[in-house]
Amino acid sequence: MTMHDFIIVSVTIMVVAIIFFLFIRVKKKKQSTNGYTEVSATEEMKKTYKLCERCKKKNYIDKKRLSYICSSCGWNLSQPYILSTFSLEVEKSPDTKDFIENLQANDSLFIWSTNENKENLVVFNEQYEIITVIPEKLTKELLPKIELSANVFAKLKKKMDHGDHYRLEIFITNDAQKKYSFVR
Ligand SMILES: [Zn+2]
Repeated sequence: MTMHDFIIVSVTIMVVAIIFFLFIRVKKKKQSTNGYTEVSATEEMKKTYKLCERCKKKNYIDKKRLSYICSSCGWNLSQPYILSTFSLEVEKSPDTKDFIENLQANDSLFIWSTNENKENLVVFNEQYEIITVIPEKLTKELLPKIELSANVFAKLKKKMDHGDHYRLEIFITNDAQKKYSFVR
């Protein structure tokens, strides 16, 4: 073997070694993207916490699923939770006077938008007569939740006569089990 042959052989070996090394690297990289660890990391990212507004328990949520139920209380976590009491001041006017005078604590109320105006929430009595319109700020808070709720229950908690206006305390929930739970 001449010096010239020796150089050619060593260069060839080196080139082959480099190609082999690169080939192994690419193969390894491919394996890690398709491999078990990477996949399970992505799966983990799709899962997240969701606080149950009803019982305050943290639930693990698999985002690929469309509906999920609280493991503690059974609440449908894809539905917003409504359980609150708010007060409204209603001016005494000839239009609503009779309806409001006839209203009694514990009466059922309906809170929904009218066909004419979808942007405002309105309080109706049991006969579906309009008692009052809910102010904008409260409407903005309640309307999106009401729209996503299967059922909404409302009751008149208290009615106070303040001379020129009434003050109505209204209880609202979308939780059928809490329908009668308000304290008078
Ligand atoms: Zn719950």
